[in-house]
Amino acid sequence: MNKLKNKVAIVTGASKGIGAAIAKYYAAEGAKVVVNYASSKDGADKIVKEITDNGGTAISLQADVSKEADVIRLFEETINVFGALDILVNNAGVYNYEPIEAVSEATITAHLNINILGPVLTIREAVKLFGDKGGNIINISSVAGKLPMATGSVYSATKAALDAITVSLSKEFGGRNIRINSILPGSVETEGTHSSGVMGSDFEKVLIANTPFGRMGQPDDIAKVALFLASDEAAWITGEKISVSGGIYGF
Ligand code: NAP
Repeated sequence: MNKLKNKVAIVTGASKGIGAAIAKYYAAEGAKVVVNYASSKDGADKIVKEITDNGGTAISLQADVSKEADVIRLFEETINVFGALDILVNNAGVYNYEPIEAVSEATITAHLNINILGPVLTIREAVKLFGDKGGNIINISSVAGKLPMATGSVYSATKAALDAITVSLSKEFGGRNIRINSILPGSVETEGTHSSGVMGSDFEKVLIANTPFGRMGQPDDIAKVALFLASDEAAWITGEKISVSGGIYGF
């Protein structure tokens, strides 16, 4: 119940899916949680209500992580409300699978801006606030970064870049007691995989067939590892890229 007692955490993209599960796991362990969202205010408020109904502490804050002014405001408002910051989870992300002939400039820009620029901006603001006590950053990457599959070139490239950022910054921040790790989920059933048509498709069957456990992951599968990495139990872990994928083979 108290693994994150009195810690303050920002979870980006927590209005649904993996981010929402992480926000709930953190709050259940005593963290005060900022449930960030881009446009789904109702979704974020629902997660906040679930947390507070269970005795936890959370607020929702809108910010598009790909916009510098929004990111600066997100961190300022967090400090105004909770007075400190201990944990940042960069979960907000987009993923499109489409053949290269169909990829538009807008798709590329969205992937670069949300999946790479966003985490760089949030990390920049977070490390200003961590102070002498140090801090903890978790980047939600993807196995797609190390096992790219056909039609996922742009998405895979952004997640490989995010993992490179994780390793580089672990070296930059080690002396300041700031840990930074990547979690690489495999295929996870979320609102995103439903709305993008993965769930129920032949693609889902391929994903399951390539997973030794023979099922899609669930957001809780990822949240449990995000909780471990945020806790003191992971105090000696930094710069790691941890696959949480049911053992996915690759394609
Ligand atoms: P999801 O269900 O589509 O939810 C995405 C979340 O990100 C939403 O809360 C959304 O907020 C937020 N978001 C999107 N763009 C944003 C922006 N510019 N600024 C702030 N928030 C933004 O996603 P998911 O499936 O849970 O995936 C979450 C993360 O896990 C992503 O980084 C994804 O790449 C990674 N991942 C997912 C899978 C999978 O199979 N699901 C596998 C590997 C890795 P709004 O609702 O307000 O738009």
